[in-house]
Amino acid sequence: MDSTDISSDLTEILYTKDQIDARVREVAAQIDADYEGKNPLLVGVLNGAVMVVADLSRALKIHCEMDWMAVSSYGSGTQTSGVVRILKDLNTNLEGRHVIVVEDIIDTGLTLTYLMQNLASRDPASLKIMTMFRKPEAIQSPLEIAYVGYDLPNRFVVGYGLDYAGRYRNLTDVGILSPHIYA
Ligand code: 5GP
Repeated sequence: MDSTDISSDLTEILYTKDQIDARVREVAAQIDADYEGKNPLLVGVLNGAVMVVADLSRALKIHCEMDWMAVSSYGSGTQTSGVVRILKDLNTNLEGRHVIVVEDIIDTGLTLTYLMQNLASRDPASLKIMTMFRKPEAIQSPLEIAYVGYDLPNRFVVGYGLDYAGRYRNLTDVGILSPHIYA
């Protein structure tokens, strides 16, 4: 679906499908240059990163592999608590691998801080982060984010993998959810 299909659910469209496509290609070109000959492992954080991993991996010109993790960060509605539980672990041994953790969005960075400590303990050759979207708090976080798609305002957004109550992940654009949906 695109934003015209659900226009009354959004107060603003922040990035269109075309803008997202273009930026994913730019980031892929950076990763191509940085990882040539390294066969990086893209670790997608389910469920939100499905779209990013699918598009980023296909935009790469180098070989890569993919694996998935599912974590649940406890919290209600539109806030994260920072308490993380691994629901699905990787199938791949990370020892000696060049790992790029792919996220849909980083807000406080609490979810990823936990995940990065966990992955670093598995002895990868390198470990970096790519996120499609970054919120203002993430810029203040000590997390080092190697690749960023776009910066976002401090608002609750949906689309391109980002959901509200399980919906809107299949929205091709990214926009601000109207408060009447979650009020
Ligand atoms: P953090 O731990 O960085 O604060 O939160 C990261 C997680 O919170 C993301 O993976 C995502 O699931 C959720 N999240 C943070 N901001 C938003 C947002 O604006 N929209 C949606 N749909 N999820 C968000």
